[in-house]
Amino acid sequence: MDLLAHFPAGLRPRPEQARLLAELGRAFAGAEADLEAPRVFFVEAPPGVGKSHVAVTLAAWSGSAYLLTSQKLLQDQYEREFGGQIQLVKGRDNYWCERYPGARVTTSHGMCRRPRGPSCQCPYARAKAAALAGPIFCANTTYFLTLRLWQREQLERRRLLIIDEAHTLEAQLVSVLTVAFSPAEMRAWFGGPLPRLDSADDYRGLMGEHLARLEDQRGLIDRTLEDLQPPGVGLAELLALPPSREEQTLISELDRLDSALARVRFFVDAGEGEWVVRYPDVSDATLELVPLSVAPMARDLLLETADLTVLSSAFLGRRSVLAEYFGLAEERVRQLASPSPFPLERRVIVYRPVGALSRATLPDLEPALFTEVAAILARHRDEKGLIHAASYAAARRLAADLAARAPAESRRVIFVDASVAKARALEQHRASPLATVLLSPSLREGVDLPDDFLRFQILTKMPYPDLGDPWTAARQARDPRWYALETAKALVQAYGRSCRHADDRGTTYILDAQFKRFVTRYRPLLPPWFLDAAEEALRAHAARAPSAG
Ligand code: SF4
Repeated sequence: MDLLAHFPAGLRPRPEQARLLAELGRAFAGAEADLEAPRVFFVEAPPGVGKSHVAVTLAAWSGSAYLLTSQKLLQDQYEREFGGQIQLVKGRDNYWCERYPGARVTTSHGMCRRPRGPSCQCPYARAKAAALAGPIFCANTTYFLTLRLWQREQLERRRLLIIDEAHTLEAQLVSVLTVAFSPAEMRAWFGGPLPRLDSADDYRGLMGEHLARLEDQRGLIDRTLEDLQPPGVGLAELLALPPSREEQTLISELDRLDSALARVRFFVDAGEGEWVVRYPDVSDATLELVPLSVAPMARDLLLETADLTVLSSAFLGRRSVLAEYFGLAEERVRQLASPSPFPLERRVIVYRPVGALSRATLPDLEPALFTEVAAILARHRDEKGLIHAASYAAARRLAADLAARAPAESRRVIFVDASVAKARALEQHRASPLATVLLSPSLREGVDLPDDFLRFQILTKMPYPDLGDPWTAARQARDPRWYALETAKALVQAYGRSCRHADDRGTTYILDAQFKRFVTRYRPLLPPWFLDAAEEALRAHAARAPSAG
């Protein structure tokens, strides 16, 4: 099966891409010849291999593919690079209603969403119809899951499903299935905060009772929307004006209620013992009911959406473990991996431990940690970089410390304090002529900072998932392998920011002594292209400080 023939026109495949495509070609041919052969493929390829080119080649070969990305930023990248080849669709909020030119009304609040508003074919409807009719339907995974699970869209089975950045698939499924009520929603829909109950099962009965209440609330909002038409004002006259702020708020609330109703029904019908409550003991907390396992939904997605499925990422983990998480038999899954195309000297790890960081040791070790960060910033005075903080609170403490300790270095820092500010901060970093340094706990993945946009990065703390979160603690208690794998994925993703293409280079500093313990203990879990850099870093550190070795 010659997949290479479908490589994007005008581009020459790299050797790693050609190898992966040849291997996949043989595997696909095997699957077509033998119904018992694996049909789900885990493809691991480190940064720089060009996974998106491989994905588009596979999609083009299939002539009928769903191509899913994990984030909008990556979807935009696909659009920029392969816009002519793929049919891309995003959520309704990304398009403007054409019935109100100049008023900037999103299609979520467009004329057809208003009571008795006529429908037409807007940019959203056109993009969705084109994606459904075209050979390569490209969307982000969450949008696709929402269409499939909650909007019951008839998505016909295709020849191929490709999920890019699939190391986030479990988390995305969990998030799409989570029932969440913000404090404002609880006030509006239930008259106040819902009680704190011991377990998710205890909420099942309560939610069953509240379903009728949510449906009543939905009816009430429908009627309120109808009543917004003032007496004496005709429908045509009303619809000619953009929806008022009040109307837009009510339409949004209706959408949130529909989403909540679908999720609550799913939760009420789900079996006992598989859900976790997240309801922090603070005022104005959000209540979340979170599924502990998504295996049945994952299995359905991976086997029923298309004849063949490819999950791709820099690093996914062991086949047996992944198969179990996704509810698949191990022998029905095949794993393919590519080495790194970059020599070690272009993607060096420097291990400079200040101590084993944990919640307990952090207060004592932070002064040494901040001193080391300031020293690295000074060493890379003329270069752009990135600091991975453990949390937003830790990032704020570091920013405050730098402002006092090293004002010149502190002025270079761009603090990315919420995920919504990410795109703006990245733009500022790229545009600035100064040696700016991004500081955030949320830039470990999905950001592309090649060449001079990132010459060094600092991992202040090992990216262990937070066991203070009840869902994470329950997931870890159920399967300690999961916790180690999540840490390994986060570590490898962060490392992957350092070197993006063959001529690139970047140094990764790791300041947490837990790194050595983790690499030593979980060596078999980590990919070879990460281990070569990690073990070299440990050797170099032992040589510098033999007593610490
Ligand atoms: S389909 Fe609806 S949202 Fe889209 S342009 Fe028409 S009225 Fe506006």
